[in-house]
Amino acid sequence: MHPGDPEGETDTVTIDGEKYARLRVGEETPPCESPCSGCGAYYFALHAVACDCEQCPRCGGALASCGCL
Ligand SMILES: [Zn+2]
Ligand SMILES: [Zn+2]
Repeated sequence: MHPGDPEGETDTVTIDGEKYARLRVGEETPPCESPCSGCGAYYFALHAVACDCEQCPRCGGALASCGCL
């Protein structure tokens, strides 16, 4: 991991100007199965962008559809 990489995968999301750490597979409530049924990521890996199973770090809903982004 290289903090500050300009492009590519990031482990944070910015919502309303605030940075939140993205939840990894297994950190959700309730925890997602590994591999993820949505994107195939394994425990403690980041979900693929817009995976239905990624939980929003702000509201706890599905990040792809909760509307926070
Ligand atoms: Zn996923
Ligand atoms: Zn949200």
